[in-house]
Amino acid sequence: MIYETKILKPNKEGINEAAKLLKSGEVVAIPTETVYGLAADALNEEAVVKIFKAKGRPQDNPLIVHIADFEKIYNYAQEVPKVALKLAERFWPGPLTMVLPKKDIVPKITSGGLETIGIRLPSNEVARKIIRLSGTALAAPSANLSGSPSPTCAAHVFDDMNGRIPAIVDGGSCDVGVESTVVSFEGNAIRLLRPGFISIEDLKEVSEEVIADDGILHKVDPGKKVLSPGMKYKHYSPKARVIIVEGSLESFISYVSKHNSEKTYSMIFDSDKNLFPFKNLTYGDTSLSQAHEVFDKLREFDKLGAEIVFVRCPQKEGVGLAVYNRLLRAAGFEVITL
Ligand code: AMP
Ligand code: MG
Repeated sequence: MIYETKILKPNKEGINEAAKLLKSGEVVAIPTETVYGLAADALNEEAVVKIFKAKGRPQDNPLIVHIADFEKIYNYAQEVPKVALKLAERFWPGPLTMVLPKKDIVPKITSGGLETIGIRLPSNEVARKIIRLSGTALAAPSANLSGSPSPTCAAHVFDDMNGRIPAIVDGGSCDVGVESTVVSFEGNAIRLLRPGFISIEDLKEVSEEVIADDGILHKVDPGKKVLSPGMKYKHYSPKARVIIVEGSLESFISYVSKHNSEKTYSMIFDSDKNLFPFKNLTYGDTSLSQAHEVFDKLREFDKLGAEIVFVRCPQKEGVGLAVYNRLLRAAGFEVITL
């Protein structure tokens, strides 16, 4: 189906219209504090199928279920372990998704065929109002075409979803800029499946036992069963070939000078700008600003017609781990260490 995609304001009228569309089984892109989400009624199979179609997403890749009030967790999760309660108390509302055994009311299409759901209570007020008004939980993956960089403003969503969905609620630019931290539980231990704004250091405040899953920094074998299915796909990628280059600014400059061509660009730190003699876009100096800018800049390279993008390797601590994780996938794990 081809839609005329409307841009709705995040005011009462826009929120009402979004909720009405969601209630009628349609898909609407909504702002959250992480990235824009492509939302539909998580309990309505036909509506959820529309999300997969609009994104072109493989159906074994589960969707995160968004709620607006903590108590609703018991409608969808069979049990909530103590550690999960502590995490919710500390980090909800916020950019944290918890994987828990699901109740039958959640259709398998939503959970990618798994017996678990990823559930999250976002802090974005507009998102919460829309969830409440729609009277259900909203399944919402990132609102990009499958494989491309996640959208952090309404214009990114429009570029990917124009004609594919009836409406986008424009809530401005997303605060965090990378997707939520995803965790599961093993007794008292927390397993980190996908890094995000809530860092390993943050999680350790709640449980000393935090296990970082292998899939965060390593390529998953195509045939292998994975705990976080999203991790096995090439992701977050612009059309250009992206290569992460690890080393000092001097060695980076010398590397790029040897491999430069007309359609080669670099993604560098703000503080490199004055010393860097080749075509570039900057993505901040701190991990926070890099998280905020990374997807926007990856999209920008497409507009510039870049064929190769060399990326200065970010810090890997705190939120930086999330930035590095996304860049690794954008690069198809191509990293050069100088
Ligand atoms: P996205 O919605 O595009 O941010 O992707 C959601 C990601 O959350 C998936 O690709 C998985 O990696 C993870 N996820 C969601 N639900 C589950 C689940 N039930 N079990 C494991 N991982 C999940
Ligand atoms: Mg996504």
